[in-house]
Amino acid sequence: MYREDANRAWSYSGSKIKIAPDSATTVNDLHYEDFSDPGNAAAGVWSRHPGTAATDLIRFNKARMDTFDAATRRMVAAHELGHALGLCHKSGSGRNAVQSVMWPEAARYPDAPTDVDKANHRRLWG
Ligand SMILES: [Zn+2]
Repeated sequence: MYREDANRAWSYSGSKIKIAPDSATTVNDLHYEDFSDPGNAAAGVWSRHPGTAATDLIRFNKARMDTFDAATRRMVAAHELGHALGLCHKSGSGRNAVQSVMWPEAARYPDAPTDVDKANHRRLWG
């Protein structure tokens, strides 16, 4: 369910991102997995497995995610998929604050890609 939130967040109108469902013929380059660890403060973890078919792995911690409201779950999901799409963390505070799903230092950050995120993604992928 979290993966749908992530995919939906990045499938905004005008987005060139097409997240194909897994099938026998698709290359499995993004994998989602749920786990449950109440002792782990992270709600979502992204990692990249280098190699011939570099695979992105996004793991959602159900023990944390299930305590969040829908907007917060979307926020975490959009952030982790942002990593898989190649975006790094943005930071800044006060007047330098960046409106971005990639700004986890903010207590609340947007739950869908902002204009900044979309521009950064375009810069990476054309
Ligand atoms: Zn992050």
